[in-house]
Amino acid sequence: MFNRIRTQLTIRNAVVLSVILIALNFSVFFLMKKMLFAQVDQSITNVSTSATLAISPAIAVDGTKPQKTVMFRMGQMDRPIIQMFWTADGRSVPMPGNGTFNEEQLNDLRPSKFDTPYTVKAGDQYFRVLNSGNLNVSVASSTDGNTYPIITQQLLSNVSAEIGMLNRLRLILLVGGIVGLMIAVIAGFYLANRALIPIRRSLEKQQQFVSDASHELRTPLSVIQAHAELMLRHPDRTIEQDSKHVSTVLQEARRMSKLVGGLLTLARSDSNQLDLERRPIQFDKIVQECVSKMQMLAEVKEIILNAEIDANIPMNADEERLHQLLVTVLDNAIKYTPEGGVVRVVCRKFAHFVQLEVEDTGIGISPENLPHVFDRFYRGDKARTRQEGGSGLGLAIAQWIVERHGGKIRIDSKLSTGTHVYITLPL
Ligand code: ATP
Ligand code: MG
Repeated sequence: MFNRIRTQLTIRNAVVLSVILIALNFSVFFLMKKMLFAQVDQSITNVSTSATLAISPAIAVDGTKPQKTVMFRMGQMDRPIIQMFWTADGRSVPMPGNGTFNEEQLNDLRPSKFDTPYTVKAGDQYFRVLNSGNLNVSVASSTDGNTYPIITQQLLSNVSAEIGMLNRLRLILLVGGIVGLMIAVIAGFYLANRALIPIRRSLEKQQQFVSDASHELRTPLSVIQAHAELMLRHPDRTIEQDSKHVSTVLQEARRMSKLVGGLLTLARSDSNQLDLERRPIQFDKIVQECVSKMQMLAEVKEIILNAEIDANIPMNADEERLHQLLVTVLDNAIKYTPEGGVVRVVCRKFAHFVQLEVEDTGIGISPENLPHVFDRFYRGDKARTRQEGGSGLGLAIAQWIVERHGGKIRIDSKLSTGTHVYITLPL
């Protein structure tokens, strides 16, 4: 499945990158062309106006036969411009500037478009050309002294250098474009791979979660099934006689219900369906309440449970979730501390946050287990062999609650010495 998605993503990425590249190359080329020719066109247009103005007196004097050679002012030229005249029957008037053109070039240069500049290839040279037609005057050629009736004035600027540059640019852009396309495909593949990493990871995590969950659910179910079958073998026995089986079934059902509750919380938090129900609360009261509740549990195990709680800690938070958090952490501390141990709860209020510490003198967590205690279904080796029957979801949910409140949870522990849980919550 991932390979198909990756191929699709690669193609899509490569296509998008290529389109961007091609568009960029085309814009660079046409912009360059436009810029180069705009300059040339500007100068021939400028000259065209002043040159036409210069011959207009000839029309005023005599529509057909000017008496003397018309002098042309070529304006302030920033590039050499050749001026030519064409007769109605398509012959060019010999002038000093155009004496160098051969028959073939003159053929190519014969006016075809008027009043807008265009490019002509004449022989091996390129020219930008501007024709002004319908002049209907006579001019005397300064080369052969004859008078010609002309209708078209033509201004030419040699743009061979510009065209050469554009051709080189086109080549560079083409080669660059092909290399770019290849890079685009590789980049597309790389990007597709990168984009898939988090998806793959979360899918793997989800699959792991589902398989762990099924596994954890199967154990209590088979225990229930086994005990129910045992009871069915002796239908004549009273509930009192079978109380061992009944209590096991009940215990496992309770465990399953707790597990399913935890699973539901985590699944909903994963899909962001679960949100906090924040309202103004007194954090110190909740801590006090939880400590009193767990006191009983501690007494049964002959554990001393101490608490130092700062007074008046108002907070905008989800009371039920914080309660769950405290019970989880205190439950661990008592569960993983042998008889006669001590569990200490310290709750301190600071300017912008509150710090809660739960310290025990219990079995501790080994350095290799410590990084995993917040993982779902993770249970330490010692915890596994114990009879308490936890699910390994407690700290995963605790971490979600703390982080959702914008806080942090951290655990320090030393094997056989004790565990120290630090929780900071913003006020
Ligand atoms: P439950 O879901 O019932 O809480 P659990 O207690 O095993 O099950 P977590 O609370 O998530 O699961 O804790 C994960 C593991 O971290 C435990 O199995 C245990 O090995 C270790 N652990 C947590 N707190 C302590 C502690 N105070 N002392 C020693 N080990 C601890
Ligand atoms: Mg626990």
